[in-house]
Amino acid sequence: MIKIQNVKKSFKNNEVLKDISLEIEKGEIFGIIGQSGAGKSTLLRCINGLESYDQGEILVDDQKVDINDKKNLRLLQKRMGMIFQGFNLLERLDVYGNVALPMKFWGMKTNTPEAKEKILNLIKLVGLEDKVHAKPRELSGGQKQRVAIARALVLDPEFLLCDEATSALDPEITKGILALLQKINREMGITIIIVTHQMEVVKQICQKVAFLSSGKMLAVGKPEQLFVWPKEREIRDFLREES
Ligand code: ATP
Ligand code: MG
Repeated sequence: MIKIQNVKKSFKNNEVLKDISLEIEKGEIFGIIGQSGAGKSTLLRCINGLESYDQGEILVDDQKVDINDKKNLRLLQKRMGMIFQGFNLLERLDVYGNVALPMKFWGMKTNTPEAKEKILNLIKLVGLEDKVHAKPRELSGGQKQRVAIARALVLDPEFLLCDEATSALDPEITKGILALLQKINREMGITIIIVTHQMEVVKQICQKVAFLSSGKMLAVGKPEQLFVWPKEREIRDFLREES
């Protein structure tokens, strides 16, 4: 379980996270939604220690996320895969090489029969078995995101953090990626946190959602509870702009 308790964060004198508290249960698909600049990416980066926070506490199964505790932070980051809007693949490596990269980073062998089987199984899981030796430039956006997902899973994480993972994709391709995330959640038991400004994403797969507005957490609940008849004006405005 991830517990965020009274977290505050400023960049210079710009307070971007204002007393955020929320809990993400194991096995959930949890959405964090809100307008551009609301602090969604910053919150996600605080969860996996890519960014520090100034006050409060973030606990992952009772272990504090502490950016200064480098050894534990590295172990914690191993438990969290991450994917981004821009895919972040290495152009010079093929699909296999990109998926294998985190293992290399951890000093693991990537050419043993077991490692090969694992990497190829992941490539198969994301539906790219006919693209094993393709370079990123030979792939579509949706295929690139599939490679990034396989790469994020190669160290057997318990959590998958997704920052606007479908924002660069058209609706049909987005549906395929969301179905894949759902499968990963169901079949591998991986907890998924999805940061997005797309209402459709939350509606389609999130079991719970938190709404951020200017660094404040306005509401948290099931999507159908939060969005059918929201009492918060900001959420109503957001829904109006989205539709
Ligand atoms: P978007 O939907 O556009 O991705 P977001 O909700 O993810 O927005 P953040 O990227 O978390 O928003 O940014 C929140 C606020 O923090 C913004 O005002 C942004 O300018 C500021 N910010 C983010 N990163 C930094 C940084 N490294 N240095 C200074 N300010 C930052
Ligand atoms: Mg962002």
